[in-house]
Amino acid sequence: MNFAVSEESALLVASVRRFVEEELCPLEEEVESKGVLEPDKAREIFLKSRDLGFYAMNMPEEVGGGGLSAVDMCLAAQEMGRTSDILVRRAFGTVYELLLECEGPQRDEWLLPAVRGDRTCAIAMTEPGAGSDAAGIQTTAKPDGHGWILNGGKHFVSDGAFSDFFAVTARTDPDAGAKGISVFLVDKTMPGVTVGRNQSMMGLRGGSHVELAFDDVKLGRKHLLGEPGRGLRLILGTIGRVRLFDIGARAVGTATLLLEMMTRHARDRRQFGAPIGEFQMIQSLLADSAVEIASARLLCLEAAWETDQGLDPREKVSAVKVCSSETLGRVADRAVQVFGGLGYCKDLPIERIYRDCRVMRIYDGTSEIHRGVVARGLLRGGAAVVLPNGKALDRSSGPRA
Ligand SMILES: Cc1cc2nc3c(=O)[nH]c(=O)nc-3n(C[C@H](O)[C@H](O)[C@H](O)COP(=O)(O)OP(=O)(O)OC[C@H]3O[C@@H](n4cnc5c(N)ncnc54)[C@H](O)[C@@H]3O)c2cc1C
Repeated sequence: MNFAVSEESALLVASVRRFVEEELCPLEEEVESKGVLEPDKAREIFLKSRDLGFYAMNMPEEVGGGGLSAVDMCLAAQEMGRTSDILVRRAFGTVYELLLECEGPQRDEWLLPAVRGDRTCAIAMTEPGAGSDAAGIQTTAKPDGHGWILNGGKHFVSDGAFSDFFAVTARTDPDAGAKGISVFLVDKTMPGVTVGRNQSMMGLRGGSHVELAFDDVKLGRKHLLGEPGRGLRLILGTIGRVRLFDIGARAVGTATLLLEMMTRHARDRRQFGAPIGEFQMIQSLLADSAVEIASARLLCLEAAWETDQGLDPREKVSAVKVCSSETLGRVADRAVQVFGGLGYCKDLPIERIYRDCRVMRIYDGTSEIHRGVVARGLLRGGAAVVLPNGKALDRSSGPRA
């Protein structure tokens, strides 16, 4: 087992860190106070990032992406975790792997412009009546001879106000349950598409989370992504990568930043004639954070490594999602405590991180849903969460004693 980071990977990490610290962090305060990232600033960080080869690093080189391995993507995402979500979205892009399903002319219309950063795609899966139960959607796409007619609505669509098109789940076969759901790429300018209210959130300032309504939207063959009925599988596959990079690795990076700040403060801040870091109760907050961050980091990298080996570490990614998001939640809470009043004050980014990170335990599958995935895997006889090898994914041996 080799834990060494290659020279190339170390260079990538250092370059992303520099870009985040020099170009993105200085914009955080303005975004927080205004509640928006000004379009000219968004454009500027996008162009700088693209010039440096940082945009769409997750996508294969054949389609113009950075072609990073999953391990390198995790290392880069840890650095992205050192700034706020909207700045990461605009600078590095959220180019979903499900667009790789585009075929023929779909590639020019949806995939390639997304990888270039000319067009942005948002995921529209959740509905007011269907959150954790992604198969319980009411949105339908009924065949009409030439294509489909889309009706229904979505909510909580991240980046919805900024995005140019949406990957929308819709029921194409009412009798086939989860296998009757397909994904359609729907342009926001199409007749019958309404981008509705921006749903205000506890954190993630500068971002948008919108409602969408579809009223008799006429869809053709070019709008269908992949095969009909395989939509849920497709969209959950792409979200697996989001869980690993954008939640797992980024949460580790944010928690690491907080631990660095807490440690410096514990050294510098003096009360009762001594640095507060000499008080054992403060040491305990630092030590627990260090231990939990190290565990989350290793789990994340192991799941990424398995992904690079061509395995499908689905249960491990669920474990990563739970471990990283909850670790960050606890570390953010401890950071507020170590900084005292300053931790609660908007002069430091800690209170923003405290608010922003809460949603990581909710979106892209709640902690409860992911604990269920891990537990069901164990009960089926798998050991995929424990063992770092392909055999662990082979359940043919049946339940273990
Ligand atoms: C800021 C933000 C951004 C988002 N971005 C997007 C986006 O871009 N695209 C998109 O499609 N969606 C998005 N979502 C939606 C998000 O993925 C859902 O909110 C999430 O999946 C949970 O669904 P829900 O809110 O309907 O909660 P519910 O499913 O109603 O869950 C409520 C509670 O019940 C628990 N629960 C539900 N089922 C079970 C079960 N079987 N066992 C145990 N407990 C259970 C949950 O864990 C939770 O605690 C976003 C949400 C937020 C808040």
